Amino acid sequence: MKVKIQRDECISCGTCVDVCPEFFELSGDDNFSQVLEPYRISGDLSRGEPPPELEERIQEAADLCPVQIIHLS
Ligand code: SF4
Repeated sequence: MKVKIQRDECISCGTCVDVCPEFFELSGDDNFSQVLEPYRISGDLSRGEPPPELEERIQEAADLCPVQIIHLS
């Protein structure tokens, strides 16, 4: 699974962090959701590749994001 967060449209509600804090966090700089450092692709805050055991909860976070900006592929 690959994850892409459209960070510029994040409303910082914290839902994704509540559902899967092992993968998502709110940035200390802009308060938008970002991928935790170990799972980033090429160091990109907005793109990540999670371990399989987190995929179910990441799917749940994507479903619950109120602005639907967590994209999975
Ligand atoms: S659930 Fe969506 S809007 Fe809320 S913090 Fe996460 S990415 Fe941003």
